[in-house]
Amino acid sequence: MVIEMVNPYDVAVHQFDEAAERLGLSQAMRAILRKPKRELIVNFPVRMDNGDVEMFTGYRVQHNINRGPAKGGIRYSPAVSLDEVRALAMWMTWKCAVVDIPFGGAKGGVICDPHLMSSAELERMTRRYTTEISLLIGPDSDIPAPDMNTNPQIMGWIMDTYSMHRGYSVPAVTTGKPLAIGGSEGRLEATARGVQVVTREAIRDKGWQPENCSVVVQGFGNVGGIAARLLHEMGCKVVGISDISGGLYNPNGIDVPAAMRHSRRNGSLKGYAEADAVSNTELLELPCDILIPAALENQLTERNAPRIKARLIVEAANGPTTNEADAILNDMGVTLIPDILANAGGVTVSYFEWVQDLQRFFWAEDEINNRLEMIMKRSYKAVKTKADEQEVNMRMGAYLLAVARVAEATEIRGVYP
Ligand code: GLU
Repeated sequence: MVIEMVNPYDVAVHQFDEAAERLGLSQAMRAILRKPKRELIVNFPVRMDNGDVEMFTGYRVQHNINRGPAKGGIRYSPAVSLDEVRALAMWMTWKCAVVDIPFGGAKGGVICDPHLMSSAELERMTRRYTTEISLLIGPDSDIPAPDMNTNPQIMGWIMDTYSMHRGYSVPAVTTGKPLAIGGSEGRLEATARGVQVVTREAIRDKGWQPENCSVVVQGFGNVGGIAARLLHEMGCKVVGISDISGGLYNPNGIDVPAAMRHSRRNGSLKGYAEADAVSNTELLELPCDILIPAALENQLTERNAPRIKARLIVEAANGPTTNEADAILNDMGVTLIPDILANAGGVTVSYFEWVQDLQRFFWAEDEINNRLEMIMKRSYKAVKTKADEQEVNMRMGAYLLAVARVAEATEIRGVYP
């Protein structure tokens, strides 16, 4: 995968600055919204299986909490950095505002390679990290969720650790938990479902038919894998997919459920015979109508943007497009559905999970999926209308909506004391 040395926080601040300029925000408001409200850095020891003690570094950043408790995932990766977490926290603020759910933005991360750790080591690291950040997290203050390399089990350990310290169960302290301890129906697929809804709406706006659309999806995890399956079910022809082992291409279409079975059996897509192997770099430049980056930041850059063939890009990942690539793709006339709208389905069902936990009253899967669909459709329409009215692209449309909502809340609350 292309790892660009672009600082994601610079990308996030640049996007905000452009929107702030267009909205005519005061200098004071710009200064407030540019900076994360709180940043916690924790260094902590973990006993490894061989008896050695290793030090780990983790972060929890809250960007803004004026519209509600801080909300955002936790990622485990060797590439985690304070600036990456800051960017992701800021994007969470805008994301929650775009879909108009009452949360602010946060993000957390631990620098580690979870693929090299045993389950027991991951559990001890998670429990210690939870204890270190329990200064910040809580059902009314800051609610973590899964992100890259974290999953329902890890959310369960965080919830249990927090609850042990309190002496009673606090399910609403995390979302994306297993169903048995207060998780929500539909949460696992929620991000991908949201991607499907906005893609379907965009296909309709363009006057295309799903059956005539070819799709390339980068990333085959909880977001990319399920999005590929849902688009395949919708009738689109998924011609390219990829995971950390590399990419696969079949211009006649890939049988996504079969590829999923292969990946489950073998641990990755490697060796799947019904498609040709391509590199991740080649994957992004394949001929297709729709490109869905669903992996890391900085995948579409000034280097590959001019060679992108897709006419519609749906950002299922957070921050996959650099500012330079954004401008190039815009000039090329490519329609881009920005991350803060496209992948907001995950945090939307996180909101439903939190509400269910607080009320101790659980909804059926149909109800969750219908409400998710309604919110994603409404938000897509609001962003499209704003973009058309202001004659800007969808990213700017989404930012204008989101930043205005956060600025209004910040203005009304005022400057304390
Ligand atoms: N990590 C996901 C995201 O980037 C979900 C966050 C959440 O549900 O709080 O949107």
